[in-house]
Amino acid sequence: MPVNDIDAPQRVSVDTLVPRIPGVIFQFHRSHNGHMRFPYLEGGGMALKYVDRDVLARNAGQLVEQLTGNDHPKVMSAIEHSARCMLPLTTRFRLPIPTGKPRWIAVSAQPESAQDGVQWNGIMMDISDQVSEEQRLRKLCDTDHLTELPNRRKLMVHLTNVASLSTRHGTPLSIMMIDIDHFKRLNDRWGHLHGDEVLKQLAAQAQTLLRCEDMIARLGGEEFMVVLPLTPLQQCHKFADRLRQAISVRDFGMGPGQVTLSIGVAEYRCGEPLTSLIERADQALYSAKDVGRDCVCFLR
Ligand code: GH3
Ligand code: MG
Ligand code: MG
Repeated sequence: MPVNDIDAPQRVSVDTLVPRIPGVIFQFHRSHNGHMRFPYLEGGGMALKYVDRDVLARNAGQLVEQLTGNDHPKVMSAIEHSARCMLPLTTRFRLPIPTGKPRWIAVSAQPESAQDGVQWNGIMMDISDQVSEEQRLRKLCDTDHLTELPNRRKLMVHLTNVASLSTRHGTPLSIMMIDIDHFKRLNDRWGHLHGDEVLKQLAAQAQTLLRCEDMIARLGGEEFMVVLPLTPLQQCHKFADRLRQAISVRDFGMGPGQVTLSIGVAEYRCGEPLTSLIERADQALYSAKDVGRDCVCFLR
């Protein structure tokens, strides 16, 4: 009678399987004095080609120190937290690659008490493609599709961060609220597509006139906001007027003087809610409209 292969599966040894998987299985040991090493580090994929496993078996400190950006402190604090609370270690870091862009590596490992320290048993996976996709989606979420400026969502996150820095350090912070004058009339006269072109060109020009630390965003329609860290009201007013002036003399394809801006400026008051800062800039913008447009106002 023929032997049925399905009924008699072959057992695969771990040594045969592990080099074929698209990831790395490891044991990582940290002694009480902080010395780190990988007693076991095996797997497939490309990441292992760029590390010396014999060195890492004795000392992993150098590899961890080489990590770029803030990956080094981030990984060290994840290790520390996992060891202290005996909770799973989950983190990600960029592994430098001599021949190209760093690869993003995800780590997931379970700690256990070991002789002279803590030992983790875990896996590492190359997640570079996933991270690129995440970055693409995040940019999509944060960007206004017409002008490619940051959108309201991105600006509010940024404003929250700079306002908290301003409160902590007592440094000035101002904002501009910008609205194109009679934009409906412009659309009606020259067409919506031309209006779109004006929005794009205005966005590009404003970016070149502002400092690199300033962020301009399209809030929606023909309204924009600029966040200017380390800037008191008077200086913000000066920048706003320079921008207003540059736009008012520019020819957007309909002859100069056809596009003008009304701008309201306001300075952050240490610790106030952001809604009241924005409200003040909005009120100032209304004043600019009231007094005849093509001007910059602030509330006294
Ligand atoms: P004011 O000086 O008082 O601000 O007048 P305005 O006409 O600019 O203001 P209003 O709010 O009456 O009209 C805004 C116009 O902006 C109406 C709308 O069609 C136009 N708009 C909003 N979003 C876009 C866009 O993405 N592209 C174009 N071309 N027009 C837009
Ligand atoms: Mg408007
Ligand atoms: Mg308008």
